[in-house]
Amino acid sequence: MNQEIVSKLKNKLIEEKKLLEEELSSFAHKDPEVKNNWETDFPQFGDERTEQDENANEVEEYSNALPIEYALETRLQNIDLALEKIENKNYGVCESCGKQIETERLEVEPSARTHVHCK
Ligand SMILES: [Zn+2]
Repeated sequence: MNQEIVSKLKNKLIEEKKLLEEELSSFAHKDPEVKNNWETDFPQFGDERTEQDENANEVEEYSNALPIEYALETRLQNIDLALEKIENKNYGVCESCGKQIETERLEVEPSARTHVHCK
């Protein structure tokens, strides 16, 4: 693969990673023990007797944030994987059939792991 294109896509991946991490850190924090694992912050509970309704809202907020956290985390992991592949010089190789993924596809989705038809 053309090195110029690879370094362009690498910059794109780094940029996307930064944005994802910013988004995640607005409601979650990094797990210090597991690489690329994020924990959604659980809202602070107030006094149980007087703020029952508010607590219920906080629980709901937390459950709504979980799938978002999971989706962002998965994207982040794919980006890291792509960056690792660039380092290992096997970037852009389809994980399913082992052939090179089209540059056009990688330009749209630099962290793509397979051909569209190999998914
Ligand atoms: Zn393939």
